[in-house]
Amino acid sequence: MSVLDRFLRYVAIDTRADEGSKSCPSTPGQLVLMRILAAELDRLGLDDVLLDDNGYLMATIPATTGASVPAIGFIAHVDTSPEMSATDVRPLVHPAYDGRDLVLPDDPSAVLRLSEQPDLLSQFGHDIVTASGLTLLGADDKAGVAEIVTAADYLMRHPEIAHGPIRIAFTPDEEIGRGADRFDVQRFGAVCAYTLDGGSRGELEYESFSADAMTLTFNGFNTHPGYAQGRMVNAIRLAARFIDRLPAQTMSPETTGGHEGFVHPYQLEASVDRTRVKVLIRDFVTAALAEKEALVERLAREVVASVPGAALEIRVEESYRNMREVLDRHPDVVDRAREAIRRAGLEPIERPIRGGTDGSRLSFMGLPTPNLFAGEHNFHSRLEWVSVQDMEKAVEVIVELARVWGERAAEG
Ligand SMILES: [Zn+2]
Repeated sequence: MSVLDRFLRYVAIDTRADEGSKSCPSTPGQLVLMRILAAELDRLGLDDVLLDDNGYLMATIPATTGASVPAIGFIAHVDTSPEMSATDVRPLVHPAYDGRDLVLPDDPSAVLRLSEQPDLLSQFGHDIVTASGLTLLGADDKAGVAEIVTAADYLMRHPEIAHGPIRIAFTPDEEIGRGADRFDVQRFGAVCAYTLDGGSRGELEYESFSADAMTLTFNGFNTHPGYAQGRMVNAIRLAARFIDRLPAQTMSPETTGGHEGFVHPYQLEASVDRTRVKVLIRDFVTAALAEKEALVERLAREVVASVPGAALEIRVEESYRNMREVLDRHPDVVDRAREAIRRAGLEPIERPIRGGTDGSRLSFMGLPTPNLFAGEHNFHSRLEWVSVQDMEKAVEVIVELARVWGERAAEG
């Protein structure tokens, strides 16, 4: 079965994650897909196919060589973004792309235009898969899932390729930041892993943001507004003054790119008595997070100090750290990915992820995990698309990675 056939089957299953849910996986649809995948890996003859109580699916492609080759892993997530409907995804294959507008028929205002989608420039002649206009497609990350299963199928049918044990994991709830929470690194038992959850063909990502979340609670004093003279302290006004003083022309998501970090107020819970502002802190250098946090704290304290009766509470939580801090200590992991991408006939494209991946967390949990392209574009959008030929390239890269790790071990 082709990677496309698999992909089309997987996207039909609604696996939208739900932040409001306490269960794991957060939604039952994810388990439905996990069970289908478990049965499929079983049929392909993989060993140790196990869907655990938390909805994590793991399996092994057994080694084909007697040489002692360390186990490596491949990981993808089955859930889709809570931001966009994933009910009744109707995937469409647009064959042999030639620069034409791709109109999504269920909402004709949803159109993929070459002028607005520069990534389509490298897709001439390729087959493009989109949704039908009302939902996301789910290439993030069912492209990765389909690629890993197809590579597993290929490796099982080609025992002449010498490789060590290959571990596979499919995880729930990546999109709501929980994908690594219950990942059993010990049981996975690989020296490193690769997530298949990236964009254009050739991409290799081993650097992510370091991230903290700050919560600033401004406490005021509420009283009947008709009799508030000299008494009321309005926490909404305090928070507004604070937000207004945050850097906007620099250090904001709207004004930064590349390796620049930012400070980003993204959620407000407002009342006169108490107003809570949530702020994301991002930087590629972990030490620089503290500088940004000190700045945010100083601005908030200055506002509160100027108003008698106002008070402030600040909480800082660690979200994730730049995986490069781990991967720099395991240069083989990234080098071999470069080598595999080249063997698939591509030039590695390396750039920092302005976000985090499950790999950022897993790397710090003892499983160095860079991210490989899966062919995803326009994540979390009705205009999401993937090219069939990119998915086929990703399958090739997985197979080549198995081979490279096998060869390097044989060379001792
Ligand atoms: Zn993803």
